Amino acid sequence: MHAQIARICTSFIDVPDKISVAIYFAGCSLRCKDCQNRELWDPRGGEKKSLGEVLTKIKSHPLAEAVVFLGGEPIEQIDFLQKLCLAINDKEKVLYTGREFEMLPKALLEHLNLIICGPYRSDLHTDGWPASSNQRILRKKGKQWQHLISMDIQKTFKSSTTKLTQKF
Ligand code: SF4
Repeated sequence: MHAQIARICTSFIDVPDKISVAIYFAGCSLRCKDCQNRELWDPRGGEKKSLGEVLTKIKSHPLAEAVVFLGGEPIEQIDFLQKLCLAINDKEKVLYTGREFEMLPKALLEHLNLIICGPYRSDLHTDGWPASSNQRILRKKGKQWQHLISMDIQKTFKSSTTKLTQKF
C-alpha cells in the first residue's frame, strides 16, 4: 500500500509541548480560501511512499511522543491513513483536518487521540493554537471525545511540559 507524501519531519509546534513526527499528506480538494499550504493541494505531489517506508521514517525519530497527520488533507488517503494508524502503537496519534469532526469516519476515530478540525480562516486568526478560532480541538478520554477550550488546553499540556523538561 502506498500514499503520496509531501514530507516527513520533526515538529515542535503541531502538538504543544511535545516533540512529534509530522507527516504531510499530498492532496487536498477542499481549496479553502485562506489556505497557507496551497503547494500541497496537488494529489500527485510529493513522493509515493510505502507503509513500510513511512513507518521506518517514524522509527527514526525515537524522541517523538506523537505522530501528526496533516497536509494537504490526510483524510483523502483514508485507506493508507487507517493502516498507518493501526501500525503505530507507541505514540499519540494526532490528525489535522480541514473537515469537521462529525464528517470523520468512525473507524478512523478509534485510532486517534487528538484532532484539530476545520478549515483555516485568516479573518479568525488567533496567533495561538488552533490557528483560527473556528477550528476545534478534540481529545479522546477513554472512548469519549471531548472538545477542549483554551483553559482545558493549558491543563492538558501542563504535564507534558514537565516531561519534556525532564528529558533534556
Ligand atoms: S483543508 Fe487545509 S490544506 Fe486543505 S485547503 Fe483547507 S486549509 Fe488548505
